[in-house]
Amino acid sequence: MSDTPTQLDFNDGKRAPQLGFGVWQIDDVHAAEAVETALQTGYRSIDTAAIYGNEKGVGDGIARSGVARSEIFLTTKLWNADQGYDSTLKAFEQSLRRLGTDYVDLYLIHWPTPAKDRYLDTWKAFLRLRDEGRIRSVGVSNFQPAHLDRLLAETGVTPAVNQIELHPDFGQRELVAYHAQHGIVTESWSPLGQGGELLQQPVLVELAKRHGKSAAQVVLRWHLQHGYMVIPKSQTPSRIRENFEVFDFALDAAAMQALDALEAGHRIGPHPDQLQ
Ligand code: NAD
Repeated sequence: MSDTPTQLDFNDGKRAPQLGFGVWQIDDVHAAEAVETALQTGYRSIDTAAIYGNEKGVGDGIARSGVARSEIFLTTKLWNADQGYDSTLKAFEQSLRRLGTDYVDLYLIHWPTPAKDRYLDTWKAFLRLRDEGRIRSVGVSNFQPAHLDRLLAETGVTPAVNQIELHPDFGQRELVAYHAQHGIVTESWSPLGQGGELLQQPVLVELAKRHGKSAAQVVLRWHLQHGYMVIPKSQTPSRIRENFEVFDFALDAAAMQALDALEAGHRIGPHPDQLQ
């Protein structure tokens, strides 16, 4: 098998690295260091958000890495308080300024916040920015089928990506099936279950031993083989590297099934219908 990192095709003709690097809960200074390490390791996709407060650090890390901006797939997200047409346009400018770039590869509506009922206007602003060439691909995060149906019905434009909480003990099968029907790429957040009990599961420990890999690497392989984009986070250089070394082995069908069987409906974050 090839050790080359894999890419995924979007419904808008664009492509993205399947494995990226997430930077939630890292401050500006450490984000710059971590992003520089990640890019030097070989990652070419970085996932941040306005609310993480580290877009400047991400931009600094990209600049310091020596990797050309054009080789990097950069994602950021619009925060809930900025939803609405004009406020989206304004927040986008601020994100670009902090990131030190003039476009993003993927811009996501961070949460639908249905009680605000502004995600449709927000989406229309996203489409304008895409038409102006400043967002290469438009997507959403934490959207449920009802929210996706509404975007589609009102604008006819399907998001390229829906970034959702997803790990082996929270497999989101119904949402994933909806994505497959509509040509939406599934992107897994908290893919390692935030490094908690998931990684101690005996089946994972056994598979890790069998493959000479870590439990985290086995979990990342599970995401990749399901066809998801995946954005593990770490601040530790050795783990940043470890999480990238997942293209030189494969899980067989029985191993994939054993990991699927960890499904426990174990949501870590808030339910998207409830977060304001
Ligand atoms: P994660 O599942 O990536 O877990 C990260 C934690 O796991 C680390 O802090 C560390 O404690 C541990 N870890 C990392 N590598 C390890 C390894 N090799 N071995 C053992 N432990 C390891 O969790 P996350 O940070 O919540 O999610 C990843 C990214 O997803 C975030 O950084 C962010 O970019 C994105 N995210 C998006 C949303 C959203 O609402 N869209 C929400 C949460 C996270």
